Amino acid sequence: NVRTVDDLIARPMDSEESITERPPIVTIMGHVDHGKTSILDAIRETQVASGEAGGITQHIGAYTVERNSKHIAFLDTPGHAAFSSMRARGAELTDICVIVVAADDGVMPQTVEAISHAKSSNVAIIVAINKMDKQGINLDRVYNELAEHGIQSEEWGGDYQFVKVSALERTGLDELTDAILLQAEMLELKGSSDGPARGTIIEANLDKGRGPVATVMVTAGTLRKGDIIVAGETTGRVRTMVDHLGKKVDSVGPSTPVEVIGLTDVPMAGDQVDAVKDDKIAAAVIDKRAEILAKERGATSSRASLEDLLSKVASEQIPEIPFIVKADTQGSAEAICDALLKIESEKIKAKIIHKGVGGINSTDLSLAETTGSVLFGFNVRAARGLSDEAENRGLTVKYFSIIYELIDAAKAIM
Ligand code: GDP
Repeated sequence: NVRTVDDLIARPMDSEESITERPPIVTIMGHVDHGKTSILDAIRETQVASGEAGGITQHIGAYTVERNSKHIAFLDTPGHAAFSSMRARGAELTDICVIVVAADDGVMPQTVEAISHAKSSNVAIIVAINKMDKQGINLDRVYNELAEHGIQSEEWGGDYQFVKVSALERTGLDELTDAILLQAEMLELKGSSDGPARGTIIEANLDKGRGPVATVMVTAGTLRKGDIIVAGETTGRVRTMVDHLGKKVDSVGPSTPVEVIGLTDVPMAGDQVDAVKDDKIAAAVIDKRAEILAKERGATSSRASLEDLLSKVASEQIPEIPFIVKADTQGSAEAICDALLKIESEKIKAKIIHKGVGGINSTDLSLAETTGSVLFGFNVRAARGLSDEAENRGLTVKYFSIIYELIDAAKAIM
């Protein structure tokens, strides 16, 4: 039952192992302020109150809820950016999307966006009409607006379950979880806890004390303490696993989120995770992924000293300066890349070849070399020995801890 390197590169699972029902993975979307976070918090609190943990839940990017001996996994990062960036990276992690619509506000631009995201990725949709506690609500209007966007409620003869809730007053939450479980039953979601684990990174960051910390949603197989895993372009041995209640666990099966410590680097949200037989296979998978990535990014082999870069850029029609950005958090990586892309001029543009969380590693150097990119580290450094290596390879690597200094440096180069 050991996968080859090629198996691991391809995302689809091909196994016909002992397949059983698995819990649904749910994402909450909807317009800002319609109550996505409040609903996620309210559902989570009901669980804690019902005594499963007897404590405070950890934020690990996802959590599991139990109702009538059935489980539901909620992705705890509401919003479309997380959903679409995962999708862009090939991770179709969501089975069911709950679209939250505030009863007093109705369909708004981001509601429409949520509907089209969910429809284009073929996930099942459930509508939660929130803020039912408010005065003077016109539900007909809300139902009509949703119907105009192709979401007709079952009550009106359509195909979609609508659940009326109030996150504030904690009403309708059991009905919402029941609706999710009913939908999951209809979807006949299958998974197998046999075999090596496969999963997806939900979020990851660099913890000062613990090193890289990553939340993995296991999608197939069983992830065990001690497993060697490959996550995107990084690897490591699973040293500690902690569930959403802060409890240490030794193994987890499909549709279970778990926080993993033991990776050598910080992976990206959406990265594929696989348990592999040994370090050698891990290294081979990473090499192959780096190769594919470099190709995808339109790499041409060339050295990338600033002089080379500038002379190359000078000969282009609409010159683009390629950047690789590594930062301490995904948030700052995103913010920096957004800012770089906003440096506009008629003569030159910035292009982000790669952005990531964690220190500058040898994969980054290779990518910088093959793509001719400038490497920026924000609140991170290069791994030991790599600064010399970068210099030997003629690469431009710069470090910053203040965003505007980074932007100024980028402007100067551009
Ligand atoms: P998000 O932007 O969709 O995540 O929305 P939030 O969960 O942050 O909620 C936005 C605002 O609506 C907050 O001020 C909440 O207190 C409020 N809110 C959320 N749910 C309810 C509800 O059921 N009833 C009422 N009256 N207010 C709510």
